[in-house]
Amino acid sequence: MTAQIIDGKAFAGTLRERIATHVAHLKQQHGITPGLAVVLVGEDPASQIYVRSKGKQTLEAGMNSYEHKLSADTTEAELLALISQLNADPQVHGILVQLPLPEHLNEALVINAIDSAKDVDGFHISNAGLLATGQKAMVPCTPLGCLMLLREFCGNLSGQNAVVIGRSNIVGKPMAQLLLRDSCTVTIAHSKTRNLQEIVRGADIVVAAVGRPLFIQGEWIKPGATVIDVGINRIEQGDGSTRLVGDINFDAAKEIAGAITPVPGGVGPMTIACLLANTVTACCRMHSLPEPEGLSV
Ligand code: NDP
Repeated sequence: MTAQIIDGKAFAGTLRERIATHVAHLKQQHGITPGLAVVLVGEDPASQIYVRSKGKQTLEAGMNSYEHKLSADTTEAELLALISQLNADPQVHGILVQLPLPEHLNEALVINAIDSAKDVDGFHISNAGLLATGQKAMVPCTPLGCLMLLREFCGNLSGQNAVVIGRSNIVGKPMAQLLLRDSCTVTIAHSKTRNLQEIVRGADIVVAAVGRPLFIQGEWIKPGATVIDVGINRIEQGDGSTRLVGDINFDAAKEIAGAITPVPGGVGPMTIACLLANTVTACCRMHSLPEPEGLSV
């Protein structure tokens, strides 16, 4: 059996089109343009690429993009002052502080200084709490994208056995909360988990967010399972070049799974699309307008 390949790139493209339609509607019917502010501290090359890509896609969707690039020696007080200014700005509906921050800045303090209604990354402690208690929250973009893919390719998730491998605050834990909310029976695995292979073997849905290249073996997968690979790992090839791989041994797993996301082209493109979706959702909530269907959960 060869798995259906879940084309996250195509799905993200369709999602961005739907977002652009909603943005046009907000502009025409209500005179509101959703705005996303992205704050980058320092010169981390990967972060610079992410921020550029976020700004470009924000503008392509018809929204306003506000980029704030601060030097690596920015003080906590200066960063908090900027966040306070963005919190108060009615043109800004979403605020994202690109992580990681330089070491002298307290990440939790900075994230929790963002107005939770504008916290489009969904990392604010209030949003984590709302999600954990099954209430309306801003949901972290990567798990939100994974859930959208799962709903699209599996339909109703109720009663399915799901395993989430990884328990980070940005992927693993919110992913598990979302699956629980969709009435899956959820196991969260981590580095101290015993018998991971057996746990994966019993899962109808596998979400891998480990950060270890090709870690999950094909023969661990239950035949017909749906496999979502969040991992992004760069590995060296024999000729000195590098390539991106996920946490799943894709070539082996695709012969056993029912459906599987590739890396690249699976979960990755969904993350920025969900950031745009969260910005539109935040904008609608802020203006007490109906939320567009399919952009939030
Ligand atoms: P973290 O490093 O924060 O978390 C990794 C998790 O994997 C931890 O909970 C850790 O367990 C667990 N783990 C490590 N080794 C093992 C093991 N041997 N067996 C079982 N579990 C293990 O990573 P993130 O959650 O931030 O990211 C995970 C991956 O997803 C990375 O490759 C990252 O690049 C990628 N990513 C991709 C995104 C996208 O847009 N596609 C967005 C965000 C992340 P423990 O807690 O016990 O240490």
